[in-house]
Amino acid sequence: MPGIQITLNGKKVTADSEETILEVARREHVFIPTLCHDERLEPFGSCRVCLVKVKGAKSLVPSCTTKVTGGMEIHTEDPDVIEARKLSLSLLISDHFGDCVAPCSLECPAHIDIQGYIALIGAGKFSEAVKLIKEKNPMPLTIGRVCPHPCESVCRRNKVDEPIAINNLKRFAADYDSMQENHWVPEIAPAKGKRIAVIGSGPAGLSCSYYLAVKGYDVTVFEKHPRPGGMLRYGIPEYRLPAEILDREIGYIKELGVTIQCGEELGRNYTIEDLKNSGYDAVFLGIGAQKTINLKIEGEKHSRVIGGIEFLHAHATATPMDIKGKTVIVTGGGNTAMDAARTALRLGASMVTVLYRRTRKEMPANEAEIGEAEEEGILFEYLAAPIRIEDAGDMIDVECIRMQLGLPDSSGRRRPVPIEGSNHRRKAHLLITAIGQRTDAFDIGVPELISARDNIQANLDTGITSDRYIYAGGDCVTGAATAIEAVAAGRKAAVSIDLYLTTGVWREKDTEEFNMTKGPLNSIPETLFEMYPKEKRAAMPALRVEERIHDCREIELGLTETEALR
Ligand code: FAD
Repeated sequence: MPGIQITLNGKKVTADSEETILEVARREHVFIPTLCHDERLEPFGSCRVCLVKVKGAKSLVPSCTTKVTGGMEIHTEDPDVIEARKLSLSLLISDHFGDCVAPCSLECPAHIDIQGYIALIGAGKFSEAVKLIKEKNPMPLTIGRVCPHPCESVCRRNKVDEPIAINNLKRFAADYDSMQENHWVPEIAPAKGKRIAVIGSGPAGLSCSYYLAVKGYDVTVFEKHPRPGGMLRYGIPEYRLPAEILDREIGYIKELGVTIQCGEELGRNYTIEDLKNSGYDAVFLGIGAQKTINLKIEGEKHSRVIGGIEFLHAHATATPMDIKGKTVIVTGGGNTAMDAARTALRLGASMVTVLYRRTRKEMPANEAEIGEAEEEGILFEYLAAPIRIEDAGDMIDVECIRMQLGLPDSSGRRRPVPIEGSNHRRKAHLLITAIGQRTDAFDIGVPELISARDNIQANLDTGITSDRYIYAGGDCVTGAATAIEAVAAGRKAAVSIDLYLTTGVWREKDTEEFNMTKGPLNSIPETLFEMYPKEKRAAMPALRVEERIHDCREIELGLTETEALR
């Protein structure tokens, strides 16, 4: 290359006089934004987002059309350059009305390319749809069954009739692909020669393992329970997520070379120091929030009181409680409460009542689960909470108090306030407490990483902790949340681990992408959608109530190909 000397942000650089400033900057890994530049077209310089400062020039110049000359001194990051680029961009988008990224994808914690996979399903390319989903979510068989699908609540199709059945379509594609003799398998990068220890085999740990394995890492998952899957196995009951489906999906992750060692509890069988000494290059903590929060009321230690997690765990490990013909009260309003109540019904309880201290509107459980529980005959008593438990022979007396809603608390929901003198009693054979879960991280040897709320402190965007050897994500960082949030956290940590181990760069924040949006759903006029005919969305085929309440067969049966294509 016939060399001329220029200075780029203070650094001496050799360039070709035929090169533009933008080309030299890219070669030198100096980022200059541009909207109109495309290597296949003649440079036009119309967007003016690529402006830079050249010493001696009267004004800022577009870097995509300006060729370098000997001795040129270029500045790409000066405050006046950044301001000018911002102004150009503001002018360009001043009357723009559009969604750069679909709201569904933005709302999805994992930011799956939802429009993309639905288009592929529409084109009959079901396995290609799975390939696209797995760029962000390696567990579509599972998530397609349990996700509360926040994507659907912001779907633009709500403005026409009903949201697209996004999650049901994901499940359809995943089910289809998994029935093929050659289901889709990702390409694995050449071995990196580095080993990663993942603690916990819930969705966070499994997702982190998947993405690290794809990048060529040697991954071992250490799990304290006898079987992998975390709350997907020991929490969510089979009628919503069959163990066979979960095993199949975990099997796909093991096929990538991930080793899962069960019965290995961090803090009991080994320490983080042991992992370091055995040659692991990084550790990911995905230990979940598995401890039932106590009610903190008198009588709670009674043998007829059990935590929802323990109740569901016993059922999942084939040691269910004998509650045939018994009266059961469940207290709480989340998924654990719904699953415990519905499982109690399937175990033959004669009457199951859910006590919740707020109203149905504030219940955090998936809407579909609440509706199905109601259909199955579970009773709900809202604005009520237990305050004392007393022995009553072969039953317990549960003293309750009525509540009214006061001002919103830190969660934004209205705080339940007890109504004085409204005490009343209910008799039950069993009280299942399901008011929430906590992380149990005290014995794993990282006291410096534990927050005042008992969670592990890690960056929510990147999974890094204050220790460069340890990453964390999922429920143990956020508190009890959802499976797709755990999946997203596992992937983000995998990206951070890979970046640090290959380049030494510590990923303190996620890349922030520029986005334009038409705005929230309720701000968009209906008239924009008038041209679309209204159509009923395909209902998920499901077992009828009388078929489903006596055993734990999967309730939802999956869309047919015809329904999915429509
Ligand atoms: P977990 O799934 O809890 O996994 C943590 C893993 O770490 C476990 O396997 C645990 O045994 C292991 N572990 C813990 N400590 C150690 C240690 N010291 N050493 C080794 N291993 C350890 N979410 C949804 O999206 N939809 C639903 O419908 C839904 N329903 C739910 C129903 C119930 C009853 C429950 C309890 C949760 C539900 N959730 C649901 C929430 C969802 O299951 C969790 O958000 C998700 O599983 C969290 O994933 P995780 O990987 O962070 O933790």
